[in-house]
Amino acid sequence: MKRFEGKVVIVTGASSGIGAATARRFGAEGAKVVLVARSKDDLHAVAADIPRSMCIAADVSKPTDVRRIVADATGEHGAIDVLINNAGTAVMGTLEEVDHDGWNKVIDTDLTGVYQLTKAAWPALKQSRGNVVMTSSVSGLGGDWGMFAYNAAKGGVTNMTRALALDARNSGVRVNAVNPSLTKTELTQGMLDNDDLIAKFEERIPLGRPAEPEDIADVIAFLASDDARFVNGVNLPVDGGLS
Ligand code: NDP
Repeated sequence: MKRFEGKVVIVTGASSGIGAATARRFGAEGAKVVLVARSKDDLHAVAADIPRSMCIAADVSKPTDVRRIVADATGEHGAIDVLINNAGTAVMGTLEEVDHDGWNKVIDTDLTGVYQLTKAAWPALKQSRGNVVMTSSVSGLGGDWGMFAYNAAKGGVTNMTRALALDARNSGVRVNAVNPSLTKTELTQGMLDNDDLIAKFEERIPLGRPAEPEDIADVIAFLASDDARFVNGVNLPVDGGLS
């Protein structure tokens, strides 16, 4: 059974990692997938295998780009059923190590980007009685060492998820988040190359391995589907039992 047949699904950060796996998952289940990221070539490479998909090269931290994402998606398809706020970046470091540019980069993309696109897409989501899924992080649940700005941004996304679900009462729109732990993507390549760090991580995690992007994508698709029709305002750890 294809759970998203004919549904219009926007996936940000769809050119790589978790977003690419998520776009493929929705595509395999019949969705008209709208792939968003800054790099046009990378987007088209992912979209090549997804029927009925379209690509929008855009930066979610830029208000004009965000308005264009919604205008182009609704212009092409006339509706938005699901918004996956997945685009994200990270700057490593403590309060003392992260400078103002690093702070702004993370907050503008990971937090303000989510706010802007959700606000712009909200009228269409209300119209379709659709839903939103955020890719937050375990860092947004309790915080983690050495990722000061990222923790702040993801903590904001975690609380935004709950706040939006509460404020959206009676609108028919659901809002949920996944909170992954270490996942094998470009974002974490530096960590994945560190054998000592990975060994420690594998020791701590009950399932004994980092996540694959597909491990996260499958849960995102579940939350966006009618199988989760009574799930709302939830931040769901997808962490192999770490938290
Ligand atoms: P990747 O680096 O593989 O993918 C990040 C994606 O976001 C790319 O498609 C990138 O494309 C896009 N992106 C980055 N900045 C912007 C921007 N300003 N506007 C539009 N698109 C942007 O990382 P992941 O797949 O790991 O990350 C996906 C999400 O998962 C992020 O929100 C991340 O914080 C979260 N996450 C990841 C974990 C992990 O261990 N990997 C753990 C927990 C959460 P482009 O550069 O072309 O714009």
